[in-house]
Amino acid sequence: SAGLWQPGLLTGKPSSVGLLRNFVGGSFVDGGSTFAKVSPVTGEQIFDVAEADSGVVDAAVTAARAALDGPWGRMSEQERAGVLRRVADELERRFEDLVAAEVGDTGKSISQARTLDIPRGAANFRAFADFATTASTESFATTLADGRRALNYAVRKPVGVVAIIVPWNLPLLLLTWKVAPALACGNTVVVKPSEETPSSATVLAEVMAAAGVPDGVFNLVHGFGPSSAGEFLTKHPGVDAITFTGESATGSAIAKVAADGVKAVSFELGGKNAGLVFADADLDAAVEGSVRSVFTNGGQVCLCTERLYVERPVIEEFSTRLAARAAELTFGWPADEATVNMPLISKTHRDKVLSYYDLARAEGADVLTGGGVPSFGDARDNGCYVQPTVVTGLPPTARTNTEEIFGPICHIAPFDTEDEAFALANDSQYGLAATVWTRDVGRAHRAGAALDVGIVWVNTWFLRDLRTPFGGTKLSGIGREGGNHSLHFYSELTNVCVEL
Ligand code: NAD
Repeated sequence: SAGLWQPGLLTGKPSSVGLLRNFVGGSFVDGGSTFAKVSPVTGEQIFDVAEADSGVVDAAVTAARAALDGPWGRMSEQERAGVLRRVADELERRFEDLVAAEVGDTGKSISQARTLDIPRGAANFRAFADFATTASTESFATTLADGRRALNYAVRKPVGVVAIIVPWNLPLLLLTWKVAPALACGNTVVVKPSEETPSSATVLAEVMAAAGVPDGVFNLVHGFGPSSAGEFLTKHPGVDAITFTGESATGSAIAKVAADGVKAVSFELGGKNAGLVFADADLDAAVEGSVRSVFTNGGQVCLCTERLYVERPVIEEFSTRLAARAAELTFGWPADEATVNMPLISKTHRDKVLSYYDLARAEGADVLTGGGVPSFGDARDNGCYVQPTVVTGLPPTARTNTEEIFGPICHIAPFDTEDEAFALANDSQYGLAATVWTRDVGRAHRAGAALDVGIVWVNTWFLRDLRTPFGGTKLSGIGREGGNHSLHFYSELTNVCVEL
């Protein structure tokens, strides 16, 4: 169906695909009911989506379990890696459909979808095909006190059926980040994309079929969380492990359900990330880097900076320049290559972000730029846009500085010493990422040791090597994924001890 996805979606209008369906055991199937997917650009309904009821979820888990014993379970690591490389090739063949699907669902700019979201989908499959075929396992030559000798070595095995639940902000990127290693390790999967972004996962199901992934290895169920496909999936006794990306509160709800079945969990959750700008930084780079780290994807990246701390001698210049750049960010249509801004994902999320704009004012913030809703004079006035916003003047304890907002807003506050900067950054319930702008190499390394987060970026932001550990401390998650860390989560190890 190449091409079906493209017309309409790039301008916030319906595509000719019409109904997005679940994918179970190699076939597209309806659900018990349907729900509407609305464009965040124009407010128009762009798809009907088949909501998986408990019967469809049960069929998906059953198909996944059966596929473990089918051709997939008998393939060598190399054969499975070959299938994953074909998936990457097919993703690239469907590149423009995936771009349209992602832009249609989220309203993100076509240039970002083409350079970040969709290329990372294919890269994830190739990277994990490589990791799984080159990873070693532990082995120990053992000598006991009585002189007996043995060889111990670990054998890697699939965990089984993995439930994959992902959010709406980087839909294909975050989904494939989990599907690729799960499949590379020989598991079968049931995925549930966000109800806000059902499209790219549906194209991925078509890609899986075209690439020759055996029936039942990849299953897709659409729907919501509580009392819907998400909850049915996490509660299903046939699921062996759950990997989840989303809000910390949702992670907590899933952890309670997972506890009953003693299921392994990997959680990539929320953040309230700090950016530290030292007076010795390249200020041009710090301003441009902060424009990216605050406003990319409408501020809707878990890694986005919402708290900026700036060394006092440069705070005035930095704040003036950041606010000026924020005010310049262009509000075009998503299909226009020059567009940078994007809408928030939904009216509900826009109401939440606007409530934080109001809260910041009520808490006494000075608004340096933004704080409202842009006006277009066209269909985008029915969309979910808000202005990029920079505020200042609040204490670290203000809710604006402690709660994840997940929109295009940051607060700027001063610091005087390195220790104070690190302490301010660490003063959070979250611990996902931090960004440090400095020319002092010693300070850069001290930051890495001092900051209580999963990822520290120095003089950059969101620069990813897929081999590195990715995850968060505190409310930001449980476990790490990436490279060998993913292989660890998506595998069971059996230790074999042979007396010699
Ligand atoms: P969310 O938690 O509302 O939803 C995420 C997914 O979970 C959706 O598919 C949803 O349908 C499902 N879900 C909701 N309740 C459920 C339940 N009770 N049982 C099973 N499934 C359920 O998150 P969101 O609003 O879609 O995404 C934004 C959040 O995701 C932010 O907090 C952001 O920081 C976080 N995030 C984290 C990372 C990371 O890598 N740490 C990456 C991206 C986004």
